[in-house]
This record gives sequence, C-alpha cells and structure tokens, in this order.
Amino acid sequence: MQVIIKKTRLSLIQGDITRQETDAIVNAANSSLMGGGGVDGAIHRAGGPAILEECKKIVKKRGRLPTGKAVMTTGGNLSAAHVIHTVGPIWRGGTSGEADLLASAYQESLALAVAAGLATVSFPSISTGAYGYPVDAAAEVALRTVIRFLEKDTTLEEVVFVLFDHRTCEIYIEELERLLPSGEQG
Ligand code: ADP
Repeated sequence: MQVIIKKTRLSLIQGDITRQETDAIVNAANSSLMGGGGVDGAIHRAGGPAILEECKKIVKKRGRLPTGKAVMTTGGNLSAAHVIHTVGPIWRGGTSGEADLLASAYQESLALAVAAGLATVSFPSISTGAYGYPVDAAAEVALRTVIRFLEKDTTLEEVVFVLFDHRTCEIYIEELERLLPSGEQG
C-alpha cells in the first residue's frame, strides 16, 4: 500500500528490512546497542562488524541509548548506507508512557534522517516483537507519528514500513486506511 503525504511517499510492504535499499534503515535496538535478537540481530548479521564497532564508540562516548532516542551508524555491508538505531519501549500494560516513548522513537529517527540530508528511510515495527507492544496499538502510534512528521517536513522522499510477517502488515494497512481522510490514498 502506498499513499502520498504532502510530498512524501509512505509505503507499507511485507518483507525483510535488511534488504531495503533506502538511504537508511531503522533498527529496533536495545539501550546497550550491542545487538540482540529479532530485527536487531538480523541487521548486525547482514551489515557486518562495522555497525557494532560504531555502536561501541557511541556507547563509550555517551553511554547507553535512552528509550525513545536515536543514533546513526554506517550500514556496513547493507544496501542502505546508514542504520538509525532507536530504542522502543517495553510494553508494561500501556500506562507507563509507552505510547509517548514509541512516538519519540519514530520522531527522533525521522529527525536524524532529515538532519543527515537523507531522502529515504525504512522502519520495522518497533517494539512489537520481544518488547511485546500490541501490534494494533503500535501501528496507530507509528503511523500517526510519521504522518504528522511528514505533514510538517517535506524533505523526505519516501518512508517505508517493512513489516516482517503477514499479520503485522495487514494490521498496519488497516490502521493506515483508518487514519487517512478519504481521498488521500493514491
Ligand atoms: P522489539 O524488541 O523492538 O520488539 P523485535 O526485533 O523483537 O524488536 O521485533 C520488532 C518487529 O521486527 C517484529 O514485528 C519482528 O517480526 C520484526 N522483524 C524481525 N526481523 C525482521 C526483519 N529482518 N525485517 C523486518 N522486520 C523484522
């Protein structure tokens, strides 16, 4: 599914984010930036050791990455030149600021991409794997945050959500259809 928000294409696809050719891909990292399971492990495996090298330097310099923040490294061997590492919230029932922290993870990642002059960026479904955020609630926050950002900032050419499994992809599509005013789909 693709829609245009102001000047930016917003695409939802099912796939593997490590194979995306956008300028940057976003990693659903943890605060240690030392790699992990899920999409984090897949990105480090596909991108090679150069990514972890830079992550170690970042942590040495500024400590662990707080939830909701983002940093950028090389993409190493990936097609994407850059990886933006962000930390989504662990789901604790929904009353521990999870939605604001998840929105921040998307917002900070987009802001980094814009600051670096990038044109295209791909996101996974942050926090909905090991971190347990319910997919429908996460999709609403993710899409609302990206749409709001793109309504204000029009320098990005494309934002892609790369959803790993069919169910997650379906939920994101349903949520985007619900959020868009009719007539905006193209
Ligand atoms: P978190 O710890 O933020 O929950 P996970 O990596 O456990 O992160 O899961 C986040 C989402 O990323 C899940 O929907 C998971 O299925 C998905 N995922 C796992 N591997 C990939 C991949 N290679 N490309 C895109 N998404 C992936």
